Amino acid sequence: MDLDSHAEDLASDLGVDNEEVKRDLQNLVEYSVPIGEAKQSLRRKYGDESAGGGGGPTSKAIGEISPDDGNVTVTGVVLTAGERSIRYQGSDHVIVEGELADESGVIDYTAWEDFGLEPGDAITAGNAGVREWDGEPELNLGEHTSISAVDDSPEVPYEIGGESSLADLRTGDRAATVDVRVLECEERTIDGRDGETEILSGVLGDESGRLPFTNWDPQPEIEEGAAVRLENVYVREFRGVPEVNVSEFSDVTALDREIDVGDDAPRMGVGEAVATGGVYDVELVGNLIAVRDGSGLIQRCPECRRVVQKGQCRTHGEVDGEDDLRVKAILDDGTGTVTVVLDEGLTEQVYGGDVDDAREEARDAMDQEAVADTIRERIVGREFRVRGHLSVDEYGANHDAVSFAESDDDPADRAENFLAEVAR
Ligand SMILES: [Zn+2]
Repeated sequence: MDLDSHAEDLASDLGVDNEEVKRDLQNLVEYSVPIGEAKQSLRRKYGDESAGGGGGPTSKAIGEISPDDGNVTVTGVVLTAGERSIRYQGSDHVIVEGELADESGVIDYTAWEDFGLEPGDAITAGNAGVREWDGEPELNLGEHTSISAVDDSPEVPYEIGGESSLADLRTGDRAATVDVRVLECEERTIDGRDGETEILSGVLGDESGRLPFTNWDPQPEIEEGAAVRLENVYVREFRGVPEVNVSEFSDVTALDREIDVGDDAPRMGVGEAVATGGVYDVELVGNLIAVRDGSGLIQRCPECRRVVQKGQCRTHGEVDGEDDLRVKAILDDGTGTVTVVLDEGLTEQVYGGDVDDAREEARDAMDQEAVADTIRERIVGREFRVRGHLSVDEYGANHDAVSFAESDDDPADRAENFLAEVAR
């Protein structure tokens, strides 16, 4: 919901002027007041008795909390609790993040004070703030919140402790535990917020799939080939795909058993894959419906490798572009579309020639587009199976291919697979 609709709602609720409410609301939001609290305070300003000045926050079931609630009192079981360091208003704070559940649902929380929360604890959080994140409510446990232990632990239909497979991790997950094999690992020096820092980055695998990771505080157990248990990791988006973050607060232990990592990438429908917000390693099958502009023979900036248009790099101005090959093509499987990006090697395969051949074709035709046209003739209208990294961000849904092959699926089989997936 955007600010305008919040203001309209509130104005009609309170029977006051829409513009006035909108101005007030805008003001508060600009001062970083969460929208729920801002609305609550306007209700008080315009004299809505139901805002409950004296009664204190209402008790609510977790499943009934909405982003518009100002403050609530909830009782539930701590499913996960993970420490993390954040920089807030110029200084470092250790916060605890996790999930709280009751019979009615699960909610993310952030604890700004050290309440000593542990997975399995049954608690009542009095006067917890509610804020909106990505359209969902979240709890803020701060200095005005009281935490008390509950004797009668509610039965919750959720697993306590945050164990997950890589395929089930989503951007925003916190305090997760995974058992994985380190498939790739390299040391890197980055320019962090406190100067140069050594970090590890690479790729993790388990039976369910693969995900990239960053280890901000390098741990010796994390090395190529090692099987490890990672506790209290969080997941955030990096370049459009989820990434496992191992911090100074994570526990890393070597496992004395093997972790099998499948060779195949999970196959997903395009719509389903895009809806997850990005998948590191996934196979998509669909019809190639078009080759986009900027395909075929292109020129890249020698400095930053970005594609140059008419000899101009967006960052470096006029440059002597270097020839390269790539394809950006639209794949459609009926459930959605993505742009499949083929690098030089894969483009050579579908074009049937290298960059010298492409230059020659362009020269003969006196048109650089000739190369893209040849590629169009070869792939548009056919069905392909593409494995790669799917990123979903402000640039759209892009599937960076690592393999690209004409699909040999029997259409009947595929329909069956599709139905099986839908039925799951
Ligand atoms: Zn450049």
